[in-house]
Amino acid sequence: MMSRALAFLKDVFGYPAFRGRQAEVIAHVADGGDCLVLMPTGGGKSLCYQIPALLRDGVAVVVSPLIALMQNQVAALHEAGVRAAFLNSSLSQMEAAAVEGAMLKGAYDLVYVAPERLLTPRFLDFLARSPLSLFAIDEAHCVSQWGHDFRPEYIQLSILHERFPDVPRIALTATADSVTRKEIVERLGLDGGRIFVSSFDRPNIRYQIVDKVNAKAQLLAFIQAEHDGDAGIVYCLSRKKVEETAVWLAEKGIPALAYHAGMSAPERSRNQEKFLREDGVVMVATIAFGMGIDKPDVRFVAHLDLPKSVEGYYQETGRAGRDGQAANAWMAYGLGDVVQQRRMIEGSEAQAQFKRIASTKLDALLALCEATTCRRVRLLDYFGETATSATCGNCDVCLNPPQVWDGTVAAQKALSCAFRTGQRFGAGHLIDVLRGNDTARMRQWGHDKVSTFGIGKELEEKTWRAVFRQLAALGLLAADNDGHGSLRLTTTSRAVLNGSQTVFLRLQPERKKTAAKAAAAHENKFATLDPAARILWEHLRAWRTETAKKHGVPAYVVFHDATLSELVRLRPQTESELREVPGIGARKLERYGNDLLEILRA
Ligand code: ADP
Ligand code: ZN
Repeated sequence: MMSRALAFLKDVFGYPAFRGRQAEVIAHVADGGDCLVLMPTGGGKSLCYQIPALLRDGVAVVVSPLIALMQNQVAALHEAGVRAAFLNSSLSQMEAAAVEGAMLKGAYDLVYVAPERLLTPRFLDFLARSPLSLFAIDEAHCVSQWGHDFRPEYIQLSILHERFPDVPRIALTATADSVTRKEIVERLGLDGGRIFVSSFDRPNIRYQIVDKVNAKAQLLAFIQAEHDGDAGIVYCLSRKKVEETAVWLAEKGIPALAYHAGMSAPERSRNQEKFLREDGVVMVATIAFGMGIDKPDVRFVAHLDLPKSVEGYYQETGRAGRDGQAANAWMAYGLGDVVQQRRMIEGSEAQAQFKRIASTKLDALLALCEATTCRRVRLLDYFGETATSATCGNCDVCLNPPQVWDGTVAAQKALSCAFRTGQRFGAGHLIDVLRGNDTARMRQWGHDKVSTFGIGKELEEKTWRAVFRQLAALGLLAADNDGHGSLRLTTTSRAVLNGSQTVFLRLQPERKKTAAKAAAAHENKFATLDPAARILWEHLRAWRTETAKKHGVPAYVVFHDATLSELVRLRPQTESELREVPGIGARKLERYGNDLLEILRA
């Protein structure tokens, strides 16, 4: 059986070998077993059910929560010559009836179905009459009530097991935490099945978390320096900020679009389509955007606001570089983010237990932001995985290690300054007091008379800002819910004030030359190509754009960047040489082989 599986991998999808645990999963499912597959985004989950669907008799029913995702998956399968269809609300009743009719006759190997349709009594009866090979439940974390992707219909999917006990089920997700994993197993009745956990490392993603000074300007500089012409996603917390940022970037010449839940559905899907189909679009969005976006060539994900948890951060950044090529996860983070997130938790109507969980999750993320050791190692550790090395060489901490200094005295000064001024002021004013700045506010409040006035001149304003941010991140200062960012002491502040606890703080060094150079090498591998290769690359890209337009599919569905760059590197001259390039299967060879050879020979 596995030799047949390998033949499908090669002939249909054009890949020479299975990745990670794909082969094991495929063998298990093809053999009729149930399982849960945990793989990071870009790990190659789709093949885990697509190849068993080809190996087994009957049609595989794939449950997928998003229409756009289904359509793209089916388009990509068609390009590879696989018999596939989808059933969702984008079809008219007549079209849907035609798909169902063909399905009964065995015309498809895979049919993607929206969960709400699947669960209707009518459709379940219909399935009972269809020859089924397997059920695949994609984005299985949607059963989790704790996650922000929760879909009530997903909970009812346990019915599949009750109604069709002999049809194997494979659930897949890129959410790695153990609580969600347990929830999926319970809710979907997968306790008898196997669990395949892959490494969640995404070695091609470079993690960078920078001190926020002027987030928008920092973002623009980052895009201009490292991602000229690249597709990327910029996450913001509020709809208003999404819109402002998109407009601002567009004014600066970056092709940016907005996406948030407050926009009309047609407007949203228009922007999403553009992002998927055109090269180099930057999507500025709230987290409403992203799930099911399987665009493989997103080169960066930027956060202008802090996510709520490490899970959220990892899921969102994971949308970069699914094609395995170099990508950046970049975040600007400052005291305001800590204050805002803490306030959102405290101010919410949620129950105490929920607030406690939310606040623990936030603390874990803040610890990641303030990390003085490798970010990747910390991320993996959070998901219960031990990294093979203490440094990854591809995160900002490894590339440009921060200094760690004993900030106990500075912390004491900051805390007592907050205390002496009545715990009613934000960091900006407190820093003015510490540095002895003569401002109107100072005189208004008489703070030039307090004992902490001017006792912190030895540190720059920038350093003080980092001190306050870290004290808030460490929970030694808390923000009041008054909307002014007033900082007050907490129960843990006393130990620092009375000297029984030392505080180590992180100091971001100036960007080193070597790190800047490493970043430059990372940013644009095509810049290093010789002129002939560069021209070939441009030709292939232009051909791809045109072909994709003709077929009404995104460019990456025709060929990935990775395939194009292999073509540039190998310059195959014959059909059999083309056949060896990863990403070129039998169908694509037949369809595009001549076009490619013509370009390559010219
Ligand atoms: P996921 O759903 O896990 O995020 P996908 O199934 O979309 O990932 O796969 C990510 C990318 O990796 C896809 O472009 C896919 O074609 C590619 N891929 C999957 N398996 C292999 C493999 N064995 N060899 C090479 N590329 C692969
Ligand atoms: Zn690292």
